[in-house]
Amino acid sequence: MKIVCIGRNYADHIAELHNETPAAPVIFMKPETALLQRSQPFFIPAFSQDIHHEIELVLRVCKNGRHIDEQFAHTYFDGIGLGVDFTARDLQSELKKKGLPWELAKAFDGSAPVSEDFIPAIEFTDFAAINFRLEIGGIVRQQGNSGLMLHPFVKIISFVSQYITLKQGDLIFTGTPAGVAAVQAGDELIGFIENKEMLRVRIK
Ligand code: MG
Repeated sequence: MKIVCIGRNYADHIAELHNETPAAPVIFMKPETALLQRSQPFFIPAFSQDIHHEIELVLRVCKNGRHIDEQFAHTYFDGIGLGVDFTARDLQSELKKKGLPWELAKAFDGSAPVSEDFIPAIEFTDFAAINFRLEIGGIVRQQGNSGLMLHPFVKIISFVSQYITLKQGDLIFTGTPAGVAAVQAGDELIGFIENKEMLRVRIK
C-alpha cells in the first residue's frame, strides 16, 4: 500500500507558512514504513529539531482505479479516518530552499500515525462539513473543517488517479489546517473527528 498526501490544501495553513496557493493539488507520498503501528509512540528522530504535527482527515481507498472521473470518485473511498502528517520542518525548509524533493522531511519512519478506526463514508451526510481537531494537553492546537479545503475529496481522488493508480488499501492524507507547531517529548496528541476521539499519539 501507499500513502498519498496533499499539501497546501487549506488557505489558513498556506498563509501561516507563507507559501503560494497552488492551482493544482500539491502531491507527495509516504511509504508503508511511515505508518505508525496502533498505539505505538512516536520517537522524535535525531535528524530534526523541529518535528511539526499536521492533523489531517484520511481517506481509505476501497477499490483500484485510474483516470477516475470526479463524479464517480466518491465510490473509491469507504472510510474516513484521522492521521498526523509528521513533518521535519527544519529539513523541509532547507529542501524547499534548494528546490529539492521533500521526502526526507515527510516520508521518514513513523511519520504517519493513522487512526485504527475509520468512520464509514456512508455515515457522513456532507463530505464538505466534517469538523476535526487536534488537542495536546487539553488545548486545541489545530481545528479544521473539510468545507475549507481548496480541493475537496473527489477532486483529490480524480487528480491523483490521472497520474498514479489508486489501489484498495491506499490511504490519502487530505491536508492540514492552520496551527502546525513543534511537538515535544512527553506530549500526547489526541485527534477527534467531530466529538469522536480517533487517535492518540505519545511523543518520546
Ligand atoms: Mg500535511
